[in-house]
Parts: sequence; structure tokens; C-alpha cells
Amino acid sequence: MSRTSYPDTNAFMAELKAKNPSEPEFHQAVHEVVMSLDHFLNENPKYRYAGILERIVEPERMIIFRVPWINDKGEMRVNRGFRIEMNSAIGPYKGGLRFHPTVNLGILKFLAFEQVFKNSLTTLPMGGGKGGSDFDPKGKSDNEVMRFCQSYMTELYRHIGPNTDIPAGDIGVGGREIGYLYGQYKRIANEFTGVLTGKGLIYGGSLIRPEATGYGNVYFAQEMLKTKGESFKGKTVLVSGSGNVAQYTVEKVIELGGKVVTLSDSSGYIYDQEGIDAEKLKYVMYLKNTKRGRIKEYADKYGIKYVENERPWLEKGDIALPSATQNEINEIEAITLVSNGCICVSEGANMPSTHEAVQIFLDKAILFGPGKAANAGGVAVSGLEMTQNSMRLSWTRQEVDNRLQNIMKSIHETCTKYGKKESGFVNYVDGANIGGFVKVADAMLAQGAV
Ligand code: NDP
Repeated sequence: MSRTSYPDTNAFMAELKAKNPSEPEFHQAVHEVVMSLDHFLNENPKYRYAGILERIVEPERMIIFRVPWINDKGEMRVNRGFRIEMNSAIGPYKGGLRFHPTVNLGILKFLAFEQVFKNSLTTLPMGGGKGGSDFDPKGKSDNEVMRFCQSYMTELYRHIGPNTDIPAGDIGVGGREIGYLYGQYKRIANEFTGVLTGKGLIYGGSLIRPEATGYGNVYFAQEMLKTKGESFKGKTVLVSGSGNVAQYTVEKVIELGGKVVTLSDSSGYIYDQEGIDAEKLKYVMYLKNTKRGRIKEYADKYGIKYVENERPWLEKGDIALPSATQNEINEIEAITLVSNGCICVSEGANMPSTHEAVQIFLDKAILFGPGKAANAGGVAVSGLEMTQNSMRLSWTRQEVDNRLQNIMKSIHETCTKYGKKESGFVNYVDGANIGGFVKVADAMLAQGAV
């Protein structure tokens, strides 16, 4: 695209699709942003003149590599490793690693693209990146996971560094995997440094990092609810997923007086009419983090409803907090949620609502917090982990939690500033996209043709 062509949204998207074929999730993520930015760019043509849109959708660097490893039977296995270094205009690349069989280039590009805006919204100096592999940790022994992580890091280490690119966890990459990855980095690079976040507390991790995404999403939803004089107290809450984000979402909702009735995994969902209390949540954490079992076992243990191969969105709830994966709420599910009285959807996962579902939430004017704003608490506390590593000290739980709450409030304010319509309705999608864009775009302008 030439500097003087100023393509309209359709032409821009047609060219993006032609240049990046077979990457529907990436197209979806970019389309949402260009739709939000259209009016803003017309009013601020300097960004169009400088080709910011054309540049911001093009990763600065994409690394794809072979990851060979030996399974417990002594057989050779090969997976594909990726790291997308999307944008470093406001800081080193920062974003998680995903280990899941569905991982491919397009999914990681969508996640890296979203990450650029999300990191900008946190107000911390972090660029955007994302990486991972099509490796499936499910059903693998600890030793197999360790050998895979060591092989993955044996290539990745040369591309990352505490001032270059700082990966973290995502789906399939939790404390266990970060530990193995960090151990191998330290061994090769011969330095103890903050090159990964989400580390264990005894080797440079931050308090509240495991909780941060789930807590942060609840704090963001709370800010949205306040604008309507509402709160979590007495509300019925639907949560999907049962991993890191879902678990700490449930913990915070319980603390604020809400009742969570659902959780899920890729095999189905559970419905617990009595609500998941602290004791049952402890069991979920054991089931998922230690036993590495399926959510169905919760239903078997407590004698409650389990629905195989379905998602929880047809159940009745006041608030929905999707916390599993992308495109897990479709149009029909969105319509059902709204007609069942749901007043607030806040995305713990990245892009869990399809484009059509988002349109329903916006048309019906419910409170809708898009992932790049609502789940930014995870990367925000990763940023705080980096700061603590640089200063060689550890903040208390209270200190980190206070900072997290302030960051989520500030993201909410930014979204309101850029997303408030004349009618008074706050379109948090536009707010997050424009608010996240401005800082990165201004830095790109200042840095010239890079
Ligand atoms: P985990 O691996 O800890 O948990 C993921 C959960 O989602 C599991 O219950 C998993 O079920 C389920 N899931 C994964 N893929 C699918 C699928 N295709 N269909 C249905 N269910 C699925 O990951 P996290 O909790 O860390 O991540 C959840 C979401 O939050 C992701 O979208 C991630 O990008 C996003 N996120 C995470 C952050 C973090 O700090 N961890 C930060 C910001 C966003 P199963 O076990 O069966 O696979």
C-alpha cells in the first residue's frame, strides 16, 4: 500500500487478506481495530500519511523453528515453534507463549496484534509479541514437557532477552512450563535475569502474577458495573474455562459476593446451581493444576449437571466472564445471553466473542469489556515483575494488588475517554482500540520510518 493511497477499510482488508491468506483470526482482530479507528484516523490524518495502519499490521519479525524432542518411549517427536515480534515502538516485545495443538501462525499473529494495543493500555513501557507451539502438553508426562520446553528454548533463547523480548505464559504454559523454560535459558545464556515473567516466587516471580488476569478482569467488570450503580454482590456469574484465568476469576467473584455457576474445558461444561464456593474452587485447582484431569470430574464429585461438548452460554446469568479461548461465544449464544438478562460481558480470554457476538452486545448496549482492555491485568503484573527484577526486590502482595487495581481503573478511564458516544453509551471496543493505538502510533511517528 502506498503512502498516498489512504485505502478505505474494505480495500485495506482485501489487501491484508490477500497478503496473509488462511489466517481468519488475524483478519478478524485487524478488522475490528480498523473499524474502530476509521473515524479517528479521518480526524487525525497524520497517522494515515505516515502509513501507521499499514505498518502496525506487519510484524517486525516472525521466527518459526523446528522443535525436536524425545518422548518417554524413546521416540523422536517434532513440533513447530513460533515467536512473533510484532511491535517494539514503546518497549521490548512482551506477550505470552501458547502450547496447544491448534496453534498456527495466524492465531499467534492475532494474539500478537492484540497484545500491542493491550500493552499500550496498561501505561507500562511494553511492546507486543506472542509465541508458542502446536505441542499439546495434555497427556504428556512432566519429563516429556520438560524435554519439549528445553528444546523449544534452545532455539528461542537467541531471540529474546530482558531488554529485547520477554515471553510469559498463556494457554498450556503455566508455572511448570515457565520453570523448565527459564532453567534452560539460564543454562544457555549463563545469566540470571528477568527474561520470562510468570516465574516462581523463589526465583524472581511476582506475587499476584498467577491471579492477575482473572482478578484484573473482575476489577475491570466492577468498574463497568459501577457506571450503572451495579456490583457483583448477589449476581449469578457464568465463567468458561477452568485454567489459570478462570480459577482466579472465580476466586475474586466469590470474594465480591457473586455466585459462579459454570466452568468448562474443551470437553464440556459444568453447571453448579449452588455456586462454586472456596472449598470447591480448591478442588478445581487441584484437579486442573496437579491432577491435570477433566472438569467432568467436578460434576461426578459433587453430583451436578455436566454437558458434554457444549459451552455455558445458554445458561442464565447476570454476568458472563469468558475465560477459555478465542471465538467461544457465537451470535446465537450472545443473543441468548442478552435475552436471559445478562447485563455485562467481560473478556478474560483473548477474542472469545465472534465479530457477530460483539455486534449483538453493542447493539443491545450492555456493558461489554473487550479482552485487550479487560484481561490486560496479566501483562500489567508481568510488567511489574520486570520492574521488580530490574530493581532486585519484591513488592508485597498488597502493593502489587493495589497497582493492579489502579491500572485496571486507568484502562477503564482510557476506554471511557475514547469510547464514549454522544448518547452517553460507552463503546469499550472503540475505546480500547483507539486508546491503545494513540500511544503506539505517536511513538512510531516520532521514530520515523521504522
Ligand atoms: P490455561 O491453559 O490455564 O486454561 C485454558 C482453559 O481453556 C482450559 O480450561 C482449557 O481446557 C480451555 N480451552 C483451551 N482451548 C480450548 C478450546 N479450543 N475450546 C474450549 N476450551 C478450551 O490458559 P489460561 O487460563 O492462561 O488462558 C485462557 C485464556 O485467557 C486464553 O484466551 C488466553 O490467551 C487468555 N489470557 C491469558 C492470560 C494469562 O495471564 N494466562 C493473560 C491474558 C489473556 P482444556 O484443558 O480442555 O484444554
